[in-house]
Amino acid sequence: MSEFYKKSSQEIFKMLNVTEKGLRSSEVEERRREFGFNELSEEKRKNTFIIFLEQFKDLLIIILLIAATISGFLGELESAIVILVVVTINAILGTVQHVKAEQSLQSLKKLSSPNAKVLREGKKVEIPSNELIVGDILYLETGDYVSADGRILDTFSLQVNESSLTGESDSVVKINDSIDKDNVAIGDRKNMVFSGSFVTYGRGTVLVTDIGMKTEIGKIASLLKSAKEKKTPLQESLDNFGKKLSVIILIIAALIFALNVFRGSDIVDSFMFAVSLAVAAIPEALSSIVTIVLSFATQKMAKENAIVRKLHAVESLGSISVICSDKTGTLTQNKMTVQKVFVDDKVLDSDKLDKELELQKRLVLMSLLCNDAVTIERDEIGDPTEIALVNLGDIYDLDELIVREKYKRIGEVPFDSNRKLMSTLNKVENKNYMITKGAVDVLLNRTSKIAKSTGVEELSNQHKQDIENINRDFSKQGLRVLAFAYKEVAEGENITLEDEQDLIFIGLIAMMDPPREESAEAVKNCISAGIRPIMITGDHKITATAIAKKIGILQDESMAMEGFELDNISDEDLKKRVEKVSVYARVSPEHKIRIVKAWQEKGNIVAMTGDGVNDAPALKQADIGVAMGITGTEVAKDAAAMVLADDNFSTIIKAISNGRSVYHNIKNSIKFLLSGNTAGLLAVLYASLLALPLPFASVHLLFINLLTDSLPAIAIGVEPHNENIMKDKPRNVKTPILNKSFTLEILIEGLLIAIGTMTAYHIGLSSGDELVARTMAFATLCLSRLLHGFNSRGKESVFAIGIFTNKYLWLAVFIGWALLSMVLTIKPLMSLFEVASLNGIQFSIIYGISFMPLILIQLYKILFVKKN
Ligand code: ATP
Repeated sequence: MSEFYKKSSQEIFKMLNVTEKGLRSSEVEERRREFGFNELSEEKRKNTFIIFLEQFKDLLIIILLIAATISGFLGELESAIVILVVVTINAILGTVQHVKAEQSLQSLKKLSSPNAKVLREGKKVEIPSNELIVGDILYLETGDYVSADGRILDTFSLQVNESSLTGESDSVVKINDSIDKDNVAIGDRKNMVFSGSFVTYGRGTVLVTDIGMKTEIGKIASLLKSAKEKKTPLQESLDNFGKKLSVIILIIAALIFALNVFRGSDIVDSFMFAVSLAVAAIPEALSSIVTIVLSFATQKMAKENAIVRKLHAVESLGSISVICSDKTGTLTQNKMTVQKVFVDDKVLDSDKLDKELELQKRLVLMSLLCNDAVTIERDEIGDPTEIALVNLGDIYDLDELIVREKYKRIGEVPFDSNRKLMSTLNKVENKNYMITKGAVDVLLNRTSKIAKSTGVEELSNQHKQDIENINRDFSKQGLRVLAFAYKEVAEGENITLEDEQDLIFIGLIAMMDPPREESAEAVKNCISAGIRPIMITGDHKITATAIAKKIGILQDESMAMEGFELDNISDEDLKKRVEKVSVYARVSPEHKIRIVKAWQEKGNIVAMTGDGVNDAPALKQADIGVAMGITGTEVAKDAAAMVLADDNFSTIIKAISNGRSVYHNIKNSIKFLLSGNTAGLLAVLYASLLALPLPFASVHLLFINLLTDSLPAIAIGVEPHNENIMKDKPRNVKTPILNKSFTLEILIEGLLIAIGTMTAYHIGLSSGDELVARTMAFATLCLSRLLHGFNSRGKESVFAIGIFTNKYLWLAVFIGWALLSMVLTIKPLMSLFEVASLNGIQFSIIYGISFMPLILIQLYKILFVKKN
């Protein structure tokens, strides 16, 4: 069936059994059963059991299991079984963590999957593109991804980039005639579009002929490798650190093994102890905790309208120091209303228009014809600039659909943000008129005449100056100004870019797009967080400046710059000036990439917003590309690391604040894990070096590892937001997470817990019973590590942070405490876990000592940590 290109569109309608109204829902269901979903099959995901087995892949765990089995055969069956059980529970927890992380990555993918616009039951609807089906009538416009193969029905200058299929990077101009040749190569099937390509210009409609694996790209990529999420920089540096740490721990474990054997302990026992020590001390959970915390954060951010497409973005968000934001729709509401009209030498308020004046009416009529927006009842569909014009038509009792039916459009050159113009060719009573609208400065250079009520005149310099003055005046009020012009075109001719000249100027229409209410506040927060906001817009410099002043982006010492000025300076000069410029006006998407690079070369982490297909390179160049969810094209969304579901600037600020929190939380979680592990190691080292009996049994170490590495570590990672976080400056990405002061804190806290543990141990030893001593050491280490979770919540004391604000941590510590208490008091468990029966005084000592690190560290924080 690959010869659709040979057929006429009518034949294909027949072949696929579809009417021009599109498919009915019953037909969609029927076809779904036949064709399935429009998806490329991905590699099968691992099942849960395999993931569970993979938890035992770690060499140390394997050694531990072998050692336990040997000791089981040598008679210590109970302890072997307990070790097996503890390791298995650990593996189950690891599996749950893995599956959870995987699930949230999947839902993240779903959130950011593209949509398609189709005609179904005669209505234009938007559906997820995996629901496209053979026979769907698909609408394509600039910036859309083509997500199925199809035969073109109509094209308005449709151009498509098919590089993913053909390797050819130039766009292909599409046609809708059939091609009467055999064996036409894909690149030459100009009346077809193919899945995997994207629209770079114009628009068109397409009849879907193939979906999913039947598409041309599906045939090439018979098995799409599921794109694995790359490790984030933090995960990588933690992995590296983990490797180095493992070597140190293994050396210590070997040393302890040697010492014990030297002192005559049983070889198998000593070996198992050394391996357990290594298993417990090596923080194997680090990387998976980072994934879990990051994916929790992405879910929270999605609820706040920031959809993160890549996990690593959450991390980089915290260090953003510059945000380059579009104006229209991001800082402003994108709800335009016409305020002023200039026609026939008169400036009029939009509510004081004279409906009878012919020239005014002609201008408004043209603004409806050179326009793609429609309003049906309350639904407004299209570009807000154009919707404002449609609403202006209401004042003149002109309905856009009726006038467009009466004066049919027979050609067009679509709007693009580089050219800043749009033209249509309409039939008006046997004559063909070209109507052009666009940026005043651009259009004025292409006009040679002016229409007045008295007739058409040559456009004099005085006329030009008057128009420019009016434009400046409107712009100063923060209005977006569009100019309108027209000319007659000979019958039978179509229009192209070259026709946009020698036009007759008719008037200006100026509209207001008020700043979003929350923009000024968000800009203020942004500045106080040490982040520089920059406005980048295609709009006029004066309009942009007026809005930028209103919301606080343009400050006294900073300035505005225009796109043409950028064209005239080198990258080196731009780098020198970049810090002074807060507003870029009349820029094209190509300028954005230079601005991003200039800031990056100054050592900044830059976020850049964008919506158009041409914004994609800048979005990719930025450290965090941010695409607009409502107005953004699919291509922009695909290039971005984050999508704003509400297009709102203040959402970026919220996302940054989340990014900063997450980084802090991960850091705290790491500190919790490492300081606890250090405590255990130090205690064992101390006892071994002083030739004291071992303070723990193997199972004790594994049990503590089980209790602390999972729930409390994650609970610390999801510590609620601390508002003060936006008062700090952005984090310097070059500073490693494990710097000197951080390491020192880990060592001191670890030492404190170790001292407590050893004190309890010595008190136990003084009773003359080694088992009691061991039990006390074990219980103290376990309890104080759990309580240390509260110390790890943040820099400030728990009183400053809020004692009960992290409910998960309370729950995690409670569960840990309950399990420990069971092991210490329930008879069968006591013998399994090799603990002695303790008396009340011994319990009081354990509790007293376990609370000491918590009390001391909190006291230190209260006295010496400055409140933010
Ligand atoms: P940004 O979103 O980057 O802040 P913008 O939306 O104002 O900027 P563009 O949409 O590229 O930028 O518009 C640039 C200029 O093109 C506008 O100032 C206006 O003069 C003109 N323009 C905008 N929309 C249209 C349109 N639909 N038809 C004709 N001209 C338009």
